[in-house]
Amino acid sequence: MSIASLASSAIRRLEGKVALITGGASGLGECTARIFAKHGAKVLIADIQDDLGKSVTKDIGNGSSFVHCDVTKEKDVEAAVDTAISQHGKLDIMFNNAGIIELPKPDILDNDKSDFERVLNVNLVGAFLGTKHAARVMRPAGRGSIIITASVCSVVGGIASHAYTSSKHGVVGLMRNAAVELGKYGIRVNSVSPYVVATPLAKDFFKLDDEGVHGVYANLKGAILEPQDVAGAALYLGSDESKYVSGLNLIVDGGFTVTNAGFC
Ligand code: NAD
Repeated sequence: MSIASLASSAIRRLEGKVALITGGASGLGECTARIFAKHGAKVLIADIQDDLGKSVTKDIGNGSSFVHCDVTKEKDVEAAVDTAISQHGKLDIMFNNAGIIELPKPDILDNDKSDFERVLNVNLVGAFLGTKHAARVMRPAGRGSIIITASVCSVVGGIASHAYTSSKHGVVGLMRNAAVELGKYGIRVNSVSPYVVATPLAKDFFKLDDEGVHGVYANLKGAILEPQDVAGAALYLGSDESKYVSGLNLIVDGGFTVTNAGFC
């Protein structure tokens, strides 16, 4: 499905909603921001890439804006959520999507504590801070949808680094705990777990081109996703169509994890 066809639905599925997207300057977050806006949402992109983020929001228009935010810094996350409130008076959707990846060192003895902490800080602590501050403003409103980008590495091991796999298993634990705790306030919490998606991160990391992945990941099999394939899942979880869905880790992988087809 193309971005245009996903965005061109006659029904604007997020009309009147306000969405904050971390890591929205690039890749999956950027694509989701564009599709959310086409469906009527006011989008606030929070990222560390200021120039890129500003140019994306300028291009999107529809009342979207950019805020500098390093998700590892609580003050930044708090301020980003407060910006959504000051600009739009509410926050309906929090998409905790910012993430980083690093080349794996399969021998655990080669893994440094500092590298492990760096990945955990962005991928897991960042999602925790986003969930916490979204809950702070969603609880009084009695509604909201919090979405976290996990990965197929949230359910299987052996693909990515120890740190990345731990961080993505971790965000699913966070998601489930928050879904239980925040459900009583009318807030839904879910995660999306993609297989390899053709984004700047993946093109660089997986040495991805038209023929698939190369280098240490050459044995990975399965269709490479386009960002809009994952954005469509976030659109569903952000919209009222999923109003009874909470605590779900929505795996978008073409069956990769159930067939185990990716492993040679
Ligand atoms: P990307 O690099 O294109 O986008 C990630 C964005 O996060 C960038 O704009 C980057 O500036 C931002 N970011 C990084 N550190 C940040 C920080 N400390 N604070 C705020 N923003 C920060 O990558 P992507 O592929 O779009 O990744 C988005 C999410 O999808 C990540 O959580 C990633 O782990 C996950 N994911 C990606 C794939 C894939 O194959 N691309 C597969 C599964 C999961």
